[in-house]
Amino acid sequence: MTTPTPELRRASGVNGLPIPLHPLTNLIARSALSSDRRDQLTVHAPFTGDVLGHVPACTEADVEAAVERAKHAQPHWAHRAFPERQAILSRYHDLVLERQDGIMDLIQLESGKARRHALEEILDVAIHSRYYTFHSQRHMKPKARRGALPLLTSAWEYRHPVGVVGVIAPWNYPLSLAISDSLPALMAGNGVILKPSHQTPFTALYAIQLLREAGLPPDIFQIVTGRGSVIGPALIERVNYVSFTGSTATGREIARQAAGRLIRYSLELGGKNPAIVLDDADLDQTVAGVARGVFSNAGQLCMAIERLYVQAGVYERFREAFVRHVRALEMNAALDFSADVGSLISQDQVDKVDAHVRDAVEKGARLLAGGHARPDLGPYFYEPTVLTGVTPEMAVYAEETFGPVVALYRFDRVEEGIRRANDTDYGLNASVWTGDLHRGREVAWQIQAGTVNVNDAYASAWASIDAPMGGMKDSGVGRRHGAEGILRYTEAQTIAARRLLSSSIDGDLAPETFGAVMTWILRAMKHIPGLR
Ligand code: NAD
Repeated sequence: MTTPTPELRRASGVNGLPIPLHPLTNLIARSALSSDRRDQLTVHAPFTGDVLGHVPACTEADVEAAVERAKHAQPHWAHRAFPERQAILSRYHDLVLERQDGIMDLIQLESGKARRHALEEILDVAIHSRYYTFHSQRHMKPKARRGALPLLTSAWEYRHPVGVVGVIAPWNYPLSLAISDSLPALMAGNGVILKPSHQTPFTALYAIQLLREAGLPPDIFQIVTGRGSVIGPALIERVNYVSFTGSTATGREIARQAAGRLIRYSLELGGKNPAIVLDDADLDQTVAGVARGVFSNAGQLCMAIERLYVQAGVYERFREAFVRHVRALEMNAALDFSADVGSLISQDQVDKVDAHVRDAVEKGARLLAGGHARPDLGPYFYEPTVLTGVTPEMAVYAEETFGPVVALYRFDRVEEGIRRANDTDYGLNASVWTGDLHRGREVAWQIQAGTVNVNDAYASAWASIDAPMGGMKDSGVGRRHGAEGILRYTEAQTIAARRLLSSSIDGDLAPETFGAVMTWILRAMKHIPGLR
């Protein structure tokens, strides 16, 4: 393991940041303000704890002004032809890939993650941009629907933008989770106000700068920086839809506020994700794949594996190989691809992770790997940690840790593995590891989670962008990605027309005759496949 480079320590001050294309001071101007005088929020670089920069603490008045501007700009945006909107998103796709090195520097400096996990964000935004460039029109176009009665009526489904969408994002994937939910909202013809986490605003500010460069009009997508408890409620009070990613506790508050206004929302929340390793799994690949799934983004990933169930026949061999693999993971603060695992984001995260580990050990769990903070590498580093002997009275058993910690359990029969995987209030993501894909799907289908991967931890399901993604149970409401990912930002409208106005059967017939005719028609329709 290596210590942070002197270059990085120097770079993490406001001056000399190694991102020549987008100095932070320019980015601050991208925050939506209604006047010049503002309190400032300090943003730190987790790799070193140094100050990275300051952003305005927006107020309710800023939020109000931003929403008003977006409302004003939105009808014009919605009336622009699809190809114009597509061209902007397509240019954005190219810009993100072209500028990826600078963006990854910024993501790493702001979040402390390893570069390979910053790269996942670049790829994710490119996948979203490509998908919604080429598929938004198909999802949004008016569709002919079956009318009430054949020949007599016809119906069409139209989709209208809701107006202005509020996107509230967490700190763990500062590019991907801020931007990927915003793009389909824009493509549906909405205005968007984004509130990034106060811990990671610069990545979002840079992303919006790139969208402007790609041709997006200024007022249609704006950012308000600041604390969630202050500007979050102000935003929900004014927008027409809320797209939220964050903790289950905050999600419940948002649902309550949105319900009071009768506006719709989608909530992407926490998880306590299980992996089931069956005894026919390829050990080498499974060990490496599960480790990636546990320690991606140092475990600060809503889809990360936190519970690992291994079948008895392979348990001993798996445990030995897994622990060896975990102990060998490289952890450092370099702005290159040398690290497997990066830093946590803050002291709060270190404290929470350490509290879960200490509580488990005090109550009898055993540490097979890790279990300690690593201040020698940077203020918030924490070792990749493996626990056994975890029992229900320990916090780590059922609560989301959101850090580099996994509990290892042994099971005998497959049904037992499935039952224990489902024994949780959460239902976000899961994985099944097996040499038999058919068997993997059979098991996957029985797991109560919005996404289940076979022989992969999360990337296969997440990146299958045409398919819905989201949580069951306490892990969320609604879905992102695919058709649902854009249609959630619309109001459905049904337009139905009646033909043969002058000789309609309900107007011209006596009620008894009308009843008899309708009864005959409905009975017949049940038997004609095209009319059912
Ligand atoms: P958080 O709930 O504390 O904050 C998320 C966002 O909500 C931030 O921008 C915050 O400022 C804002 N916020 C806070 N209080 C608010 C309020 N009262 N009204 C409106 N907005 C408010 O979550 P976090 O700590 O930033 O992120 C970690 C959590 O997010 C974990 O639980 C993780 O599992 C979850 N998460 C879920 C997904 C998913 O796709 N399901 C993805 C990433 C993270």
